[in-house]
Amino acid sequence: CFCQVTGTLDDCACDVETIDRFNNKEIFPKLQKLLSSDYFRFYKVNLNNPCPFWTDHSQCGLKYCAVKPCTPGEVPEGLKSSSYKYSEAASQDLEECEKAEKLGAVNGSLSDETRQALQEWKKHDDESDRFCMLDDVDSPESQYVDLLLNPERFTGYKGPEAWRIWNSIYEENCLCVEKRAFFRLISGLHASINIHLSARYLLDENWFEMKWGHNVSEFQLRFDKELTEGEGPKRLRNLYFLYLIELRALAKILPYFERPAFHLYTGQPTEDNEKKKLLLELLHMAKSFPLHFDETALFAGNKKEAIKLKEDFKLTFKNISRVMDCVECFKCRLWGKLQTQGLGTALKILFSERQIEAMPNTSNTNPSFQLSRQEIVSLFNAFGRISTSVRELDNFRSLLSNLKQ
Ligand code: FAD
Repeated sequence: CFCQVTGTLDDCACDVETIDRFNNKEIFPKLQKLLSSDYFRFYKVNLNNPCPFWTDHSQCGLKYCAVKPCTPGEVPEGLKSSSYKYSEAASQDLEECEKAEKLGAVNGSLSDETRQALQEWKKHDDESDRFCMLDDVDSPESQYVDLLLNPERFTGYKGPEAWRIWNSIYEENCLCVEKRAFFRLISGLHASINIHLSARYLLDENWFEMKWGHNVSEFQLRFDKELTEGEGPKRLRNLYFLYLIELRALAKILPYFERPAFHLYTGQPTEDNEKKKLLLELLHMAKSFPLHFDETALFAGNKKEAIKLKEDFKLTFKNISRVMDCVECFKCRLWGKLQTQGLGTALKILFSERQIEAMPNTSNTNPSFQLSRQEIVSLFNAFGRISTSVRELDNFRSLLSNLKQ
């Protein structure tokens, strides 16, 4: 089968078969369970940011492009309490800081400790630390979306509008020192999105219901070796490359989540504790993967080059996350934003190894490395998308082999 990618991946010691086994049997089921929890299913996003690059764009009028935001009653109370936006429970300090910030009262009434905590969080908020533009979650334009009720699937968004977005993303490439790695990441993301729309395609529609499912011919058109002049299988290999990069980031970030101060806070203590346990099991599993990608091979070079590379990646990914505000289809924009933020967060982790290693283990010290709730939700959901794509390849293989028989 053309979609049976085999053998080792370029630049990696890992073979595709090992990823398939590991993902489909171990990671995928656990991840699905985690992503259906309240902490991960409610994502706050601003889908109304204007496109910063061009003005001649319209909105996709197709009904499948729409996104249904949550009503206030649907979002767990705990998520709405802004003091927990950083998911840190050692946040009596933080709560005090936020109140003070709102009142414009950063003055002598704050303890030294609290003032220091405020400075730490402010430092973290600095955009320069990030690989993507994050929406201002406090803006009235930002809304919670239930990702389970707005799944990534076929929307009908295509043609010159969609191509303009993909082209401008690939064109960012020329800024980057490590062009090949950058291209493979984007191409992997592109492949994943196109697998999802083929796996959850609108097969039939009448007044009463819509039938969504696998469209094998759509999948063949996009990935068959013959039909894509040999490009299809290469694109699938790029999907596995992206998988390895994000898996590596999850393995590296384990110490951050292991700290007792960290909670997946939604205001439901029993559920929150259970989900933290599940999250840690998943991260230990990610760490135990035997053939991890060696990111030093990718980001190698002398210190000066490494710094330049980091800055290039940052700039590039920030621009890509801004391009997402130009996607006319809201559903595609939602998932496009989430997945580029997730990938940006994975890169931030891979480039912050030293800060993560130096992180204090005690609950009352703010670490210099921080992740906001938005970054955490996008990191895991983005990996969830790639993991589902790898799983879907297995389904397409079976469907194609049934067709042949
Ligand atoms: P496209 O996928 O638009 O590709 C354009 C060109 O890029 C191709 O002709 C090919 O030369 C090249 N190319 C294609 N794949 C790759 C790859 N993996 N690596 C390198 N080059 C490649 N549609 C939906 O139905 N649901 C969605 O959720 C959805 N989300 C989207 C999110 C974003 C951010 C964008 C930009 C588009 C999204 N789309 C979605 C649209 C979808 O990705 C396609 O653009 C659309 O289906 C038209 O496909 P196409 O065959 O014309 O080629």
